[in-house]
Formats: sequence, C-alpha cells, structure tokens
Amino acid sequence: MSKQGNIQISSENMMPIIKKWLYSDKDIFLREIVANGVDAITKYKKLVEMGETAEDESNKDYCIKISVDKDAKTLTVEDNGIGMTEDEVEKYITQIAFSGAADFLAQYEKAGGDGIIGHFGLGFYSAYMVSENIEIYTKSYREGAKGVHWESDGESTYTIEECDKAERGTRIVMHIAKEEKEFLDEGRIRGLIEKYCAFMPYNIYYNFTGKDDKALNDTNPLYLKNPKDCSEEEYKEFYRKTFHDYHDPLFWIHLNMEYPFRLKGILYFPKVKSKVELERGKVKLYCNQVYIADNIKEVIPEFLTLLNGVIDCPDIPLNVSRSFLQNDRQVQKISRHITKKVADKLTGLYKTDREKFEQCWNDISVFIKLGCIKDEDFYSKVKDIIIYKDLNGEYKSLDEFIGKKPEEEKAAEGEAEQNGEKKEEEKQPTTIYYISDEVGQAQYIDMFKNAGLNAIVCDTFIDTHFVSYLEYKEPTKFRFLRIDADVDAALKSAEAGSEEENKALTEAFKAALKNTDVAVKAEKLKNESVPAIINVSEFSRRFGEMNAFYGMAGADTDRDMTLIINTANPVIQAFTGLDEDKKKFVANQVYYMARLAYKKLSPEEMKEFAENNAALLKNYIG
Ligand code: ADP
Ligand code: MG
Repeated sequence: MSKQGNIQISSENMMPIIKKWLYSDKDIFLREIVANGVDAITKYKKLVEMGETAEDESNKDYCIKISVDKDAKTLTVEDNGIGMTEDEVEKYITQIAFSGAADFLAQYEKAGGDGIIGHFGLGFYSAYMVSENIEIYTKSYREGAKGVHWESDGESTYTIEECDKAERGTRIVMHIAKEEKEFLDEGRIRGLIEKYCAFMPYNIYYNFTGKDDKALNDTNPLYLKNPKDCSEEEYKEFYRKTFHDYHDPLFWIHLNMEYPFRLKGILYFPKVKSKVELERGKVKLYCNQVYIADNIKEVIPEFLTLLNGVIDCPDIPLNVSRSFLQNDRQVQKISRHITKKVADKLTGLYKTDREKFEQCWNDISVFIKLGCIKDEDFYSKVKDIIIYKDLNGEYKSLDEFIGKKPEEEKAAEGEAEQNGEKKEEEKQPTTIYYISDEVGQAQYIDMFKNAGLNAIVCDTFIDTHFVSYLEYKEPTKFRFLRIDADVDAALKSAEAGSEEENKALTEAFKAALKNTDVAVKAEKLKNESVPAIINVSEFSRRFGEMNAFYGMAGADTDRDMTLIINTANPVIQAFTGLDEDKKKFVANQVYYMARLAYKKLSPEEMKEFAENNAALLKNYIG
C-alpha cells in the first residue's frame, strides 16, 4: 500500500538558499551519500560483531556500488549495509534528514554565513542540490523486513510504499537535474570518488560487473598503519599516488596518536621547485577516512600547508562554523600538536643526520623561516637549527657562525654570567654580514674574503623579512647588515688619513660629480686597487625591499647611497691635484665603476660610461 505525506519542515524556502549557498561546492553531495552507505555497513558489521544478528553469508562482500544510467539520467549509489524499515525511513529520512537540513541552515545563519566546515549535517538532503527527484530502495537487516520504496522531489511531498527488494541494504537513485548533467559523466564521478572517497573503509566500485572489478579507493591507507610497519618505498608510493608528484619527497612525518585526541596522518616535505615563489602544498583533512577539505587553517597551521599531507582527525567537531573552530580548545591543541611534531622531526634530523639536513636545507629553509615568522612557538623550537651557508660554502647556525654555543648547551654546562660588566658587554648585538646576490656583490665578497671576514648567504625572497624578524626576536644577540651596507673596521687600513684632508677631498669629489643625490665619504681601505665602492644604508634598503614585496608604489631600493672613495687608491690620491675637467671625468668614471659593481647603471649613465671608456682606450693607445 502506498502512502503519501507532507514533509514537515517547510523546505520550500530552504532549498533555494541551500542551493545558492552551496552552488560552488555541490560536489560534496556524493561524499554525503557514499558516507551514508559506509555508515550503514559499519552499523551492520557492528551488530554482527555484537551477536545481535547472524551475518548473512550470501551478502558479506561489503561494498558500495556507483553507477550512471545516461538514458534514464540517474546516478545510483548502492550499499549492502544495515538497510531501513518503513518506520526508519519515515523517521530518519522524512523527518530527521529534513530537520537536519533545517538545523544546518539555522547554524549557518547563526554563524553569520561564514561557511560551515565540510557542510556536515546536511547529509542526505544535499543530493537535492543536483537532483530533481530522489528514490530510495531499501531493505532492513531485520528478519522478515520488507523492501521499502520512498520518493520525493525534496520540495514538499513524498511517497512511501512497499517494494520488492531481494538484498539487504539501500539503493539511492538520484534523478539528476537538467542543468546538472555533468554528474552523469563517468569521468566527473570518478574524479569525485577519487577526491572525496579515496580512503573510505569499504570497497567502492564504479559500474560493478561482478568479475575482475577493481575498487577505486584504498580501504586501508598507509597513514592508518603503525609507523613501525611502513617501509620507505610504501611512504613514497603513497605520496606519489596521493599527490601525483613524481619527485620523491625529502622526508616525512608519520603522526599516530590516540590520546588525548585521535590523530593520524603523514606530512611530507616536498622538493621545492623555485626559490622565489612559495608553492602551496596540500594538507588534506579527513574525518574517519572521509575527506573534508584541503588546508583548513583552523586545524592545520597555515605555514604547514606548504607541505603535502593527509591528516585524519575523528575528534574535530565538523558541523560547526569556522569561527567556532578557531576558538575551540581541542582544535587548538590538535593544531599545536601538529606544529610540535614537525619541529621535533626537524630538530631530530638536525641532531642525528646533519649531513642530510644540510642537503635538504635549500628545500626546507623557506618553509622553516615562514613558520618562524608566523608562529612564535615554532620559532622557539627550531631557532637553533636554522642554518646559513657562509662565504666558504659551509653551513652554520648563527651561534656557530659567531662562535657561540647555543643557549641550551651553555645552560647545561652551568656557564654562569660572571659579573655585571660582562652582562653589559653581552647585550651588544653581534653584527652579522650577509650577501643576497653572489654575482652582484662579488666585489664586496672579494674584499671580505681578503680581509678574513665572513658573511652568510641570504638569497631567498623571505630573507629580508626573516633577518628583521630575528633582530626583533633577539635584539641583544644579532644585528644584520648586508655586505654593501657598511665598511667594516677590518676592511679599513690601520692609519686613516687626516680628517681635514678627507673633508677637502670629499667636497671636491662631490662638486665634480654629476649625480648630486649620492653622498660621498672618504675611507682608507686595505685594498688599494679599488677606487670606490657603493654603500647603501641597511635600513632604507630594507624599507624599499619591503615596499616592493608588498607591491607598494614608489618602492625605491636605491635610497641613501653613499660613494665610499678609497684614499689608499692612487687615482683618488691624485684627485685633488687634477684640473677641473679631469676631476669631472675621473669622479664620474669612478662613480660609474662603483655603481656597476653594485647594480646596473641607468641607460643614460651607461651611454656616457661607454663613451668615456672608448675615449680612454683611444688615449691609451696614443
Ligand atoms: P547523518 O548521516 O549525519 O545522520 P544524513 O542526512 O546523511 O545524516 O542521514 C540521515 C539518516 O538516514 C542517517 O542517520 C541514517 O539513519 C539514515 N540513512 C541515510 N542513508 C542511509 C543508508 N544508505 N543506509 C541506511 N540508513 C541510511
Ligand atoms: Mg550522513
């Protein structure tokens, strides 16, 4: 006997809102329907396990079958789970499922429309985003249960009647709406299964034939296994399959904990392809093997999304709004735990396999530096393992570079601060020179090496930020100067020239220079062969770089240039004795040479420099 009824919750005004809001994210309907099948199988198995019912020997290949009938325009999902009686369909589908959707909407509105994570709680109803009509054929596991057929357009009415269904389980037949016909496309459906159902715990088949069918999913993904039982090859294989990246990962972290919350997953450090750009990775979040979304920043700290990984966390309350997640203690704990594990892995590698750590450094340094800037906890855990290449090509931590022991070790050795004076002295930050461009700064590097000085290489796009961050975090420890920002005492000759002479020289030089913006200063350098070098104030250069980084107009990285003329150089020594024309010629030529060693000349400057050189050559050959 067939029965008809009205859907109790008024869904006429609900559907348009849900449809509109979820428009961009309709895909999740398939996950919801398949996940219901998974739940139904799990429930049945549980009953068998508890001895509530005897396992049906003829129907125990637990699986979910998905098929498309293009002519009938239907998409069908069938499971052999627990099934439903007529009463249960009334209760769970007609009443609860629809009221669940109403709850969802109420929550969504309460949350100010900020998006409900994974849209859980919408469940069965979400299939109406793509269907004009849905039929359910189901048969409960209960003795003597009859098949039930339910049908509704999801708007306001439904029918329910008895039907012939031989096997236990539920078949959902979705009559796909005209404008959603993409969901009748095999490739589209396979793509959705791969994305949302890749690790679901029962076999999922597309167009099941009964012979040689291959499941589309991996029911026992590697991340669920005990790390002890996983081989290196398995980790790499899992990475390739999950992320379609054919470069092996550098290394990985297998998370596996039960207490105080359940968390399983694998985070992979990929090889980076470019030094000047961040490549966003993908950390896929799962809940009991059901895919939720990528890179949920409330659960996975944002900087970790530079990695690739899977995280399965059954304890996250998913049917809540994002703003709730942000303030949830449990979620914060999970996020902190993941960060801690990553820091532990990195410090572990540094301590046990420094060679490998150094080999990987180029690939992980941007990630680590970004992590430090974004997360102070992370910084305090990894600060001693941040290394830099020096001018000799050796990797050193900053403490190693300045010849200090890391604080940890010092404390362990009980090295106490001796007296007040020493304390004061220690408060002076150590100046660390860095280079950002081995070619552009070659002249400075050469002078540095000859004077027995060293510098670190900071050549990734994040380094200007990072050194500023270090100075802010460790104001009494480090101060950073780019190699061309200042003339270190070690580069200067012991006897400086007289102040008066220098003053006269710089004034004469400045008067002869065409470029009136540049400041001039005389120094006696050890290196006699260089007539002049350019210095640029660290502060203004950084300011300009930051502006450029944020794409701000008027970014000028040329501010505050100083031409350091070298009084040890014969040309400079002869300068004051020259006639006015020669002074002009020499001053400009010296300036252009210094500029060339620092950065490119402007087109006009380059033209004049080339003409002058041609004239010089002509004079030279007489
Ligand atoms: P939820 O899964 O969060 O409970 P849904 O709207 O997805 O919400 O489903 C509502 C209810 O309908 C389920 O709790 C379950 O009792 C029932 N149900 C849905 N699909 C199936 C199925 N394939 N087999 C058995 N019961 C189902
Ligand atoms: Mg559900």
